[in-house]
Amino acid sequence: TGTQAVDTESEALATLHRVFGYESFRGAQGEVIEHVVAGGDAVVLMPTGGGKSLCYQIPALVRPGTGVVVSPLIALMQDQVDALRALGVRAGFINSTQDFDERRTVEAELLAGELDLLYLAPERLRVEATLDLLSRAKISVFAIDEAHCVAQWGHDFRPDYLALSLLGERWPDVPRIALTATATDATHREITQRLGMPEARHFVASFDRPNIQYRIVPKSDPKKQLLSFLKDEHDGDAGIVYCLSRASVEKTAQYLSDNGVRAVPYHAGLDSGTRAVNQSRFLREDGLVVVATIAFGMGIDKPDVRFVAHLDLPKSVEGYYQETGRAGRDGLASTAWMAYGLQDVVQQRKLIQGSEGDEAFRRRAAAHLDAMLALCETASCRRAQLLGYFGQEAAAENCGNCDTCLTPPQTWDGTVAAQKVLSTVVRLQRERGQKFGAGQIIDILLGRRTAKIIQFDHDQLSVFGIGEDLSEPQWRGVARQLLAQGLLAVEGEYGTLVLTEASGEVLAGRREVRMRTEPEKPARAARGSA
Ligand code: ADP
Ligand code: ZN
Repeated sequence: TGTQAVDTESEALATLHRVFGYESFRGAQGEVIEHVVAGGDAVVLMPTGGGKSLCYQIPALVRPGTGVVVSPLIALMQDQVDALRALGVRAGFINSTQDFDERRTVEAELLAGELDLLYLAPERLRVEATLDLLSRAKISVFAIDEAHCVAQWGHDFRPDYLALSLLGERWPDVPRIALTATATDATHREITQRLGMPEARHFVASFDRPNIQYRIVPKSDPKKQLLSFLKDEHDGDAGIVYCLSRASVEKTAQYLSDNGVRAVPYHAGLDSGTRAVNQSRFLREDGLVVVATIAFGMGIDKPDVRFVAHLDLPKSVEGYYQETGRAGRDGLASTAWMAYGLQDVVQQRKLIQGSEGDEAFRRRAAAHLDAMLALCETASCRRAQLLGYFGQEAAAENCGNCDTCLTPPQTWDGTVAAQKVLSTVVRLQRERGQKFGAGQIIDILLGRRTAKIIQFDHDQLSVFGIGEDLSEPQWRGVARQLLAQGLLAVEGEYGTLVLTEASGEVLAGRREVRMRTEPEKPARAARGSA
């Protein structure tokens, strides 16, 4: 009834003020909370930093019983629980890091009705003893955090999440709320279906982060490029630099330190003590840079991260969005900067080919990568492309706060250049049964008599030197874009280039290839405003 709704709202609002000390709800928070407090199921899609936690924490406080939060982020549970306890919320967790006594204490608190919130790792719910424990307690709400982990289509699939559909079967009267910062249509549908929540109300927030400026620059000398980006635009700012490998994390952190940037490394190969120290320094100190693998950042809540830089290509747009989303949670101007080059495409394609996964896995991985490449190669607004990927429309065709809007890239008809590259590959393959990587192909086109060219008699090929009209970086750009567009493929552990089915159409002149012009110097835009 109307009165009840008003009561719910005021109780929720009172809790927001009293416990969390905030003025008002943000975005859809108020609506979500009202719906869940009233006993309804909800699927909540909100970007990182959007304020998902309160959507289940407040219902857990307002409804009688304990709110059970399923989260895969075991490493963060202690911190989350400590933070809640500091606010006077009775919170606990059960996971594999605890010893027997600690777990027994939490279980006793749960059964005595002394917990407002209980955090659980998903694998716990596959154990009958845990389900039995929960049956003996009073549950107010089930929150399924990082709900995209249930989606096999997604990039973070965790088999343990599949078992969560039983929550609705075993506790039909307890409301469930599934939350995620991943919002592609496919993932959204899979969450709803696999968690068995057909009746749930859906709350989809805008994924636009207007204060983040998106920039993707051609990679030439990545560490140096990063350093000048930091010095020119983010001197003394806190930020995260993502690298693919532990080795490059170490090297990059060292390089930045040697050049006067306060930087620390973070990756799974460091001992847990060092990791903990570096993470807490990042959270507490001003202006520290963390150089990390993607192991860093899940659940990190630091409002004033001014930039996120990628030195290697993320595997998917979801990953890119989540990682860049750690910038600018305070709403102030921030930069998402990435250096991207030919080698990234070769490397990622190689990784997919060499992966242990089955054919379906490889197809999915390739589709994720293709979407990421399309974002890198687009000549139109990056924000519009990003939002479009998540099924959302941008507010404007040109956001004015990404590199392609600030300095619109030129495009050119790259058909002839593409034909030159492809016919070189054909010559090597058909006439000589040889396969080579991009470096050798470019040397042939440029007519360079290197030792390797002489060794293989490649100066005798009819295509030798036919590409002197373009520079080496331009040819690398051509090769990269051919790979990105699926007009060339990568094979084997050396990343040799081979033709695809679509290559034939270009060679036969039946298909035009449009390309982005490679800037002479990496484009740099003025610092945007929020
Ligand atoms: P998410 O889980 O969606 O990434 P969080 O729940 O961690 O986001 O919230 C992000 C930040 O915003 C946190 O620092 C949180 O305290 C703050 N926050 C959330 N809701 C509000 C609100 N209504 N008013 C003020 N700050 C809020
Ligand atoms: Zn734009």
